[in-house]
Amino acid sequence: MVDATDTDVPAGVAQYTGMRGISAVPSYVILQPTTLCNLDCAYCYLPARKFDRRMPVEVAAATAATVNAWAAERDRFSVVWHGGEPLAAGREHLAALMAPFNGVEHHIQTNATLIDDAWCDFFREHDVHIGLSVDGPEARTALRVDRAGREAYSRIVRGAEALRRHDIPFAALCVVSDPSAELARELYPYFRELGCYALGINIEEHEGVNDRSNAYAEAAVRGFWAELTAQWRTDRAIELRDVEFAIRYAGALLHGDADAILPRQMDPIPTIAHDGAVTLLSPELAGFSSPHYGDFATGNVLHQPLDEIVRRAGEAAWIGEYLRGVEACRAVCPYFGFCGGAHAANRYFEHGRFDGTVTEHCRNSKIHLMEGVLDHAAPQHRGDGR
Ligand code: SF4
Repeated sequence: MVDATDTDVPAGVAQYTGMRGISAVPSYVILQPTTLCNLDCAYCYLPARKFDRRMPVEVAAATAATVNAWAAERDRFSVVWHGGEPLAAGREHLAALMAPFNGVEHHIQTNATLIDDAWCDFFREHDVHIGLSVDGPEARTALRVDRAGREAYSRIVRGAEALRRHDIPFAALCVVSDPSAELARELYPYFRELGCYALGINIEEHEGVNDRSNAYAEAAVRGFWAELTAQWRTDRAIELRDVEFAIRYAGALLHGDADAILPRQMDPIPTIAHDGAVTLLSPELAGFSSPHYGDFATGNVLHQPLDEIVRRAGEAAWIGEYLRGVEACRAVCPYFGFCGGAHAANRYFEHGRFDGTVTEHCRNSKIHLMEGVLDHAAPQHRGDGR
């Protein structure tokens, strides 16, 4: 068992130097067009997904006032519509929310169950980048159900078919609730067949209203990442987000420029909720508060410019505590250079505070990811001598 405090780590993982702060300009923002989701997945972290609280256009316009200026300074700036099912807001309302934005890329993370020809025309018209959520073949997607407990898989497949029919490229996001090498052997060919150009894996997280355990056996998680790497190596048709980042980091480290991989400053990732409330750093904290920290939102775009809310990030007690947690990680964790301190929400929902270090989440999605990739690289694991 390799833990964050363990100094005996596989070759190629080393310390990172330099203080991490929060950038004043993000590379993207997340907007919640509605809290509503037409599904009720067993592992969902969202607190208000059965309510249809829609974002008024004033909130989008207030956000765009800052975002358009940021976008004008950059080659690319993304607006990500997420958190609930964005398509549940309807085409007319979503178009009205998108209208105030200029010079940005619109991205929608969708469960795909509502996608039809009309939505595909909408995606074309607004040049929307699609991220589709599905966890693999039907049996593996069984946790994605609607409020009546009915399977969602057949509707997801219909949505993916519509995207292919209209030749609209899409990325896929897969939640893994039972990591194993056997699962990896099943998932990669499935997503190859589904037709996505990129695949992101989220090992299920204990966060928000999801209180299911995410404490998985080390061998199972390492085996999952090692086998996924092996599957990808046989046919690299899909961009494999997590594995390729680990390989890029290992390569940069061996070339002596690992510092180039982990940005010196963290992306503040502003999440603008349906009512204009802004939560920084961790979208999963949006809509939550605690007696000790108060509301995790640090401002509202209806009352303050978004850039001012971001600039004043450090004034929030929980953010200060999180930054101290990141420093604690740097002091003890051999994976810091690769990970950078991971996410505030996982610390809070696993530890109840922000200044702890290792979480089940970072074990599953940082430490064992790197170990799995390096395991695969080790000849004795590959058995092919190459
Ligand atoms: S969050 Fe990252 S740096 Fe901190 S203990 Fe986990 S792997 Fe290490």
